[in-house]
Amino acid sequence: MKVLVVNAGSSSLKYQLFDMDTQEMLAKGLCERIGIDGRYKYEAAGREQVKGDYAMKTHADAIKLLTKNLTDPEIGVIKSMKEIDAVGHRVLTAGDIYSDSVFIDEDVKQVIKDCIPIGPLHNPANLMGIEACAEVIEGVPQVAVFDTGFHMTMPPKAYLYAIPYRYYEQYRLRKYGFHGTSHRYVSGKAIEMLGNPEHSRIVTCHLGNGSSCAAIKDGKVIDTSMGLTPLEGLPMGTRSGNLDPAVLGFIGEHEGKSAQEIVTMLNKESGVLGVSGVSSDFRDLEAAADAGNERAIIAQDMFVYAVKKFIGSYAAAMGGIDAVVFTAGIGENNGKMRGDIMEGLEFLGFELDKEKNLVTRSQADVSAPGARAKTLVIPTNEELVIAMDTMDIVTKRTAK
Ligand code: ADP
Repeated sequence: MKVLVVNAGSSSLKYQLFDMDTQEMLAKGLCERIGIDGRYKYEAAGREQVKGDYAMKTHADAIKLLTKNLTDPEIGVIKSMKEIDAVGHRVLTAGDIYSDSVFIDEDVKQVIKDCIPIGPLHNPANLMGIEACAEVIEGVPQVAVFDTGFHMTMPPKAYLYAIPYRYYEQYRLRKYGFHGTSHRYVSGKAIEMLGNPEHSRIVTCHLGNGSSCAAIKDGKVIDTSMGLTPLEGLPMGTRSGNLDPAVLGFIGEHEGKSAQEIVTMLNKESGVLGVSGVSSDFRDLEAAADAGNERAIIAQDMFVYAVKKFIGSYAAAMGGIDAVVFTAGIGENNGKMRGDIMEGLEFLGFELDKEKNLVTRSQADVSAPGARAKTLVIPTNEELVIAMDTMDIVTKRTAK
């Protein structure tokens, strides 16, 4: 079975094609600047990347381009789009309506539409991706995998904000959490690495451009750091993470800015970029810190401190902790930062194999022998999870 995984943004569309018999990724691509001038990258596994400009007015044009690339006699990997059995979409949110992945029909599209107020940037783009596939790859079954889905097991004490209850009733205003597919994948792997115990208490740390932690007890999320939007929680590349909401009022009053302008500033100009003034990329930040840049050092320290505090608070929330998992760009590649985060957490049972931790960039247990709680590095693979869910749902439907 061949599954195409699509992640449609407002002006971009990322995709990967999987052969599910081998779980091998056959090709991947990125269409950017849709509706502007159109740029693309395409790469068949193990071959050189093809780049270029291609006028893309709509997402359907991007799907047409992807069709052209995937079936090209020279650079393609399939003969015809008929070889694609199903399409899996990364969809931001179905609110609290669906926690599991679902076959896309008119009702599901309506739910995605109804949830636009809680995913104003992503849900409309996801819908455009779904419509574009339906238009260009006629009759192909499509599945939606929700980024918030895995977090829907949180209890009200974790997902409610302590504001008048009517905001929750009226607007479903609550914590939803994000990176759900990633937290689900790496926590599943971690449970396997722990030997499939009946009970487990795991904190997953997805640390990339956007970062979030989740507390996962017996395989189910009980809390996560992102909120109604991905702005809550850890300081990130450009997002502020947690702060006193009165900061909004203060800035609004002193600089005459609207709430929306301030939220944009908190999303795009804050985090380690805002504090350091150097970059949102942790590699640049590290280089600047190594060269003695004070603010870069503080920005890194703030990030480390915030992750450490989430691990500690989630250990308290779960009544103990068996493992911490690191994943995504920073979590997988930056051993120094993992070491800094775990330093001082020996009281929870953690101890690192320092040498191993510094060099590890693939799946590994980087704990010292005998450590009571494990420190695990697990590369995430959200696209593969989407492809697997898609295959499962489509196979079950055809078997009916
Ligand atoms: P996104 O949220 O966009 O998927 P990533 O998971 O790719 O982001 O993470 C991006 C971050 O990871 C950047 O801050 C970058 O510095 C860091 N990163 C990515 N690759 C490496 C690497 N090889 N070594 C150190 N840091 C890395």
